Amino acid sequence: MSDYILETADLRKTFGELVANDGISLGVERGEVHGIIGPNGSGKSTFFNTVTGFLEPNGGTVRFEGEDVTNLGPDEIARAGLGRTFQIASPFTDLTVRENLLSVYTAGLGSGLRIPDEKRARAQNILEQLEIEHIAEHEASDISGGQQQLLELGRILMLDPSCIMLDEPTAGVNPALQARIIDHLQGLNDEGRTFVIIEHDMSVISGLTDRVSVLNQGQIVMQGDFDSVTSDERVREAYLGE
Ligand code: ADP
Ligand code: MG
Repeated sequence: MSDYILETADLRKTFGELVANDGISLGVERGEVHGIIGPNGSGKSTFFNTVTGFLEPNGGTVRFEGEDVTNLGPDEIARAGLGRTFQIASPFTDLTVRENLLSVYTAGLGSGLRIPDEKRARAQNILEQLEIEHIAEHEASDISGGQQQLLELGRILMLDPSCIMLDEPTAGVNPALQARIIDHLQGLNDEGRTFVIIEHDMSVISGLTDRVSVLNQGQIVMQGDFDSVTSDERVREAYLGE
């Protein structure tokens, strides 16, 4: 028996006639970096949404850390230790970078709330770890796309997740910052955090991932290590545009 930290069984999501997730059964091993690739519209983001409680699946189950989380909401799932980012990073643009991190605690609790020193220290550590301390007092609307991706990652880290799902974390990010994001992900994985990562850029996937699943039309059509999956003729033609 593998030690799956996250496991879906026959997960389904339809939008009217459209079957976006057509029975996805995926086991993510504790400590691995699991890549998800597949053409546009193959259901990758929908899968993240059904797994993390942002969309209610039409069928199937999601287990995380041994618990059935299928019908939990996004906040409950995040608090259980399953973090996720969105394809489009959406920080609170009128808050500073630091306030964005702290807002993970204050959301919905009102403005009079005193933030515990321990949370402030945690935010400070994350700012330093992700090397965004120098922009901590900048408004989130004034930072670059790559810095917003790092901020998004930082917001997730505030809840100390054991597993993080990233939806195209390096899309639209300049190459220098992209390399830094990859380094940070590698470091967080070395600390023992599990990752599931949707990514178009094969140079990102190749170095980071232990295994890759290929999605097509809402189904997993292939799974294996990066080299075996991407050396497959059909994958090269259909999904990598070669
Ligand atoms: P990917 O992330 O692989 O590009 P998506 O999961 O975003 O694919 O989309 C899968 C399919 O589901 C697409 O055909 C998309 O148009 C459709 N879809 C995604 N979200 C919605 C939604 N909220 N309402 C209706 N259709 C959607
Ligand atoms: Mg997507």
